[in-house]
Amino acid sequence: MNDLDKVESILFSQEKRFRLVDIPGAGRGLISTSLIQPGDIILRDKPVILGPGVAEDGTYCSGCGDISGSNLNLMENCSCGLRFCSVSCKQSWHTEEECRIVSSIPEPKPNQNYWLITLRGLVSEDPRIGFLQELTVQEGAGRSKEEDEVVKLLSSFGFKEKSILTVYRQLTANTFRRGRGRGLCAGVAMVNHSCSPNSRVWWDESGSLVLSARVKITPGDEITLTYCSPLLGQPSRRNKLLQSKGFICRCPRCQDGTELGTYMSSIRCTKCKPGLICPVGLDEDKLGWICSSCGFKPNPEKVSGLLKKVEDELYGLEKEKDPGRKLLLIQQYIEKNKKLFSSDHFLQLRAGDLMVGLMNKLAPSTSCIQTKEYYTRQTLKVLETLDPGLSRFKGFQLFKLYQILFEKIVHSAQGSLKAEEQFQLVQDMQTSLLESKFLLSGDRFAPPEIVENANLLVRALNQEQVEQIQDKINQKYKIVKSVYQCI
Ligand SMILES: [Zn+2]
Ligand SMILES: [Zn+2]
Ligand SMILES: [Zn+2]
Ligand SMILES: [Zn+2]
Repeated sequence: MNDLDKVESILFSQEKRFRLVDIPGAGRGLISTSLIQPGDIILRDKPVILGPGVAEDGTYCSGCGDISGSNLNLMENCSCGLRFCSVSCKQSWHTEEECRIVSSIPEPKPNQNYWLITLRGLVSEDPRIGFLQELTVQEGAGRSKEEDEVVKLLSSFGFKEKSILTVYRQLTANTFRRGRGRGLCAGVAMVNHSCSPNSRVWWDESGSLVLSARVKITPGDEITLTYCSPLLGQPSRRNKLLQSKGFICRCPRCQDGTELGTYMSSIRCTKCKPGLICPVGLDEDKLGWICSSCGFKPNPEKVSGLLKKVEDELYGLEKEKDPGRKLLLIQQYIEKNKKLFSSDHFLQLRAGDLMVGLMNKLAPSTSCIQTKEYYTRQTLKVLETLDPGLSRFKGFQLFKLYQILFEKIVHSAQGSLKAEEQFQLVQDMQTSLLESKFLLSGDRFAPPEIVENANLLVRALNQEQVEQIQDKINQKYKIVKSVYQCI
């Protein structure tokens, strides 16, 4: 048995539909060995460890990282000062050794979100942690500020600096977000990244991370997942993957400056009217830019400087506390950047999404509903291309659309719509709800109202109407009916 076979036999005990292989230029990866249909479950992976998230403020369950804020009083306290959502969560993740070490960290303890999971990895005796690849750090780059702090804190308990750094970087590169926390699932961690992936992951009710197919995967295809939001454009996606996961992605989407025809990273050309300037030159140190109509190449430093400024401006607006002022500033931001960006630029969509969130808190008016519907549909349109097949993101977005359309129906009840418009609107609303339930089925972090609302709707419709919607969804996602029931 060679090393790879040994790793495979330890990580994947159940019957499997893939092999673990060496993939040139990408380390190890999973190759499908049988035909996998959209919706098929490829792997259910129990976490090796769970813990609080990385970038979250506030205190969450020190076990699973889940419950927070107002529920803190319901939590199980431990003598070491950590708090857990339940006795069983504490028993699952908080070993005696961890408790002993945490007890000796002087008060006030530094924010557990950045060091606790590393400590958990260090005291764990699970051999699977040893199989993980470390985050590749660019040559010459030293330790980050966070790495320095974790090393400083944990080395005083007898852990070697090198082991702390290794575990910290393994967990950074290989954990999956889980609500407010994150979890390490050693099997799914073997799946490589693509910005246009053929599989997806979600946490089920039993606490496993599920890897399932988005689209048909034929034998010999590599199984891929995305490690970042599909709504992140170049070069932000490039920076994020490089910093948080340590690599430059060379997937088909990243090779294509038009972002598969969505132009979601393009800026308007200053030399020709309809032209859009797209990113090029993936393999060089820095991205270049070129107009797809007239061939104009702006100075890449200037472009990246400008983009960074405009992106940082939006992140700044997100922090604004006063909702009324925030809405106004975001509206101004979108208006101002219409001259700079393509209409589906990812920063415009992101700003639009923020606006939808803020407008949801206002009393519905015709113009408000119109704006919310517009941005929700634009994002859905882009996701249709960039987050292929059974997409989790689309599930959330469709639920938002359902809520907006529901509001629109109630708001227009006084007869402002023609009969056919009203009929189309009701159909759209029904399909959005059932499609979102279908995409988020079994997902423990799906909006809790989905199931209840969908059940109410199904009861209100007749059998034939339900089957019609179900057929439409099955056809759209190429679901093999006998294998997968969607509603
Ligand atoms: Zn918990
Ligand atoms: Zn304890
Ligand atoms: Zn990519
Ligand atoms: Zn041009």
